[in-house]
Amino acid sequence: MKLTLIRRKTEAPNVESFVFSPAEPLVWKAGQFLHYVLHHEPTDNRGSDRWFTVASAPFEKEVMITTRLTKEKGSSFKTALDGLKIGEYIEISDIDGDFIVDDPTQEYVFIAGGIGITPFHSILKEADRAGIKLHATLLYANRDQNISYKDEFEKFAQNNASLDIRYIISPERIDENLIKKLVPDLSKPIFYVSGPEPMVESLGNTLEKIGIAKDHIKQDYFPGYAGMVS
Ligand SMILES: Cc1cc2nc3c(=O)[nH]c(=O)nc-3n(C[C@H](O)[C@H](O)[C@H](O)COP(=O)(O)OP(=O)(O)OC[C@H]3O[C@@H](n4cnc5c(N)ncnc54)[C@H](O)[C@@H]3O)c2cc1C
Repeated sequence: MKLTLIRRKTEAPNVESFVFSPAEPLVWKAGQFLHYVLHHEPTDNRGSDRWFTVASAPFEKEVMITTRLTKEKGSSFKTALDGLKIGEYIEISDIDGDFIVDDPTQEYVFIAGGIGITPFHSILKEADRAGIKLHATLLYANRDQNISYKDEFEKFAQNNASLDIRYIISPERIDENLIKKLVPDLSKPIFYVSGPEPMVESLGNTLEKIGIAKDHIKQDYFPGYAGMVS
């Protein structure tokens, strides 16, 4: 199916949102992702397709990609995406993913590394709109004070006293001690971790080490970013 670019927005320096209108109504759950194809020439060896979380909330009916545009060594795909004009299109297929919140009565700890915030943006925006007061702690690690979606998150937290948002700015890191400090009862919540592969892998190990059961850990790996916070 074709998605037409209708607007874009700068979320932070080098972090850009692209908002598309689908040719036909698209149904998805907050936290899911899509497969995208963007034909462009010349195409580097990283190819013309990617996976991106749908960063918008389902009630918005529009598909938003939020991504980091790397100036040096950035891919031809991202250069083409950055160069896409309003009215031009990208192709999608295969909505997928189980990084979703099925049970709004559960307690959650959401852990995001940089651009790994996208599924949580969708989940929290959808819950805010529906008036669902998720019992959640969001630990949002960022490389600096330029935090994507910050104004929206502040609004979500104002509307929901059970939503606790903590920004962890580099060089501070999310580690065992910080998790234990910010999440006093580790036995209850389900932990969702999203971000660059090395960060998600490492935090998965940390959570297991501090005794979190495997079925209380959900991971969403973003390949292609090398650092701990993309
Ligand atoms: C389920 C899922 C959901 C995802 N959701 C998102 C999302 O919401 N937002 C998002 O931004 N990404 C998301 N991703 C990751 C996305 O698909 C890309 O892998 C990622 O954005 C990197 O894009 P890119 O390869 O175009 O590299 P760029 O962003 O252009 O570059 C990233 C960095 O990688 C280095 N690099 C990586 N591979 C190479 C290579 N082969 N040669 C040279 N340098 C290299 C570059 O030095 C550069 O600094 C998701 C992935 C999955 C699987």
